[in-house]
Amino acid sequence: MDSLESTFLGRKMRGLWVLLALFVAVFGKETFEGHQVLRITAVNEAQINLLKELSEIEHLGLDFWMDPVDVSLPVDVRVPFYSLQDVRAFLGYHEIHYEIMIQDLQDLLNEEQREILRSMALQPRSTEDYNYANYHTLNEINSFIDMLVQENPGFVSKIVIGQSYEKRPLNVLKFSTGANRPGLWIDTGIHSREWVTQASGTWFAKKIVTDYGRDAELTDILNKYDIFLEIVTNPDGFQFTHTNNRMWRKTRKPNSGSSCIGVDPNRNWDAGFGGAGASSSPCSETYRGPSANSEPEVKAIVDFVKSHGKIKAFVSIHSYSQMLLYPYGYTQTPCKDQAELHELARKAITALSSLYNTQYRFGSIINTIYQASGGTIDWTYNQGIKYSYTFELRDTGRYGFILPANQIIPTAQETWLALMAIMKHTKDNPY
Ligand SMILES: [Zn+2]
Repeated sequence: MDSLESTFLGRKMRGLWVLLALFVAVFGKETFEGHQVLRITAVNEAQINLLKELSEIEHLGLDFWMDPVDVSLPVDVRVPFYSLQDVRAFLGYHEIHYEIMIQDLQDLLNEEQREILRSMALQPRSTEDYNYANYHTLNEINSFIDMLVQENPGFVSKIVIGQSYEKRPLNVLKFSTGANRPGLWIDTGIHSREWVTQASGTWFAKKIVTDYGRDAELTDILNKYDIFLEIVTNPDGFQFTHTNNRMWRKTRKPNSGSSCIGVDPNRNWDAGFGGAGASSSPCSETYRGPSANSEPEVKAIVDFVKSHGKIKAFVSIHSYSQMLLYPYGYTQTPCKDQAELHELARKAITALSSLYNTQYRFGSIINTIYQASGGTIDWTYNQGIKYSYTFELRDTGRYGFILPANQIIPTAQETWLALMAIMKHTKDNPY
């Protein structure tokens, strides 16, 4: 076969692969045609209780993006097309106010997918070429990680801290300029559908290698501390959001005695596990799992933190709702460092909002968002990691989990300023 012919065949094969990828993208996936996201504003406790009752009617297939808690926060809920009439009738009958935030979820998903396919044709050859302003697949992020390691020998390495349920490696980037340093931890994507978080994590990784040796503050931090960054903390879920169901949040481990799959990996930690603020039902989006650390994705971090022994700050990043939160989520009892954590949170969100004026709320989890048991940072805090925080990135619900790709870089940039404030404070207040 001459080279012209093989090039032609190569092209033809590639064309077939793209077609196949498109076919899977279109036909293998759950569609959300006609699904609406409603923003419901309850005005009193009675209405909140009605919404809680609504959330328990399983056949409606509702997906609460923001749970009913109290009148201070709106409730966002994805309503399948087949339940729209019932839900509207329910809200109308009880005179509960709502507005339509997303008219047809599938329209947004189609636009998101079009953009992904557009940039897929351009495989980056280095982390310079990588398109930080778009969403990427698990394979693409894994290649990014490998390129970053290769480009920065002696500074960046990849540690595999364990395996997901479906046997994917749990990759952690380590940024280190010396041996035996204490560590700072950042994770993104523990809830797989929160795509702006994995995308921001990728941007943070590049930012760290770009700024080291140039930005005095980051250089100082990296001369004393290692930074650990887990970009895809729930790889099975993340893969599933690309191939099957964009709205997948949990892990992908089957539950015995139930046809529902997965555990909420932010209710699975050994801190108030099993208490209020998590579900015991395997079909719930906040299912806590059969026991603490039952999910390998959680257990891997637990083992890593324990064996490392010197993690001094731990930041776990979610979306959405624009909040910076510290412990506790499972109890009203204030944590003993509350005053310091509160002041540092204020400093961090002030830095964050200085860039694009993005407004954040801040406070303890239980007082700012809702009671949640078995959460990541309650466990890390109880392990002695004083500077334990959770972010909820953009936005406040206009797009929710389907944040347009053109907001990735601004989101990452502003969040980085808050992360720097937390890391600098940790460095300046050793313990
Ligand atoms: Zn989350």
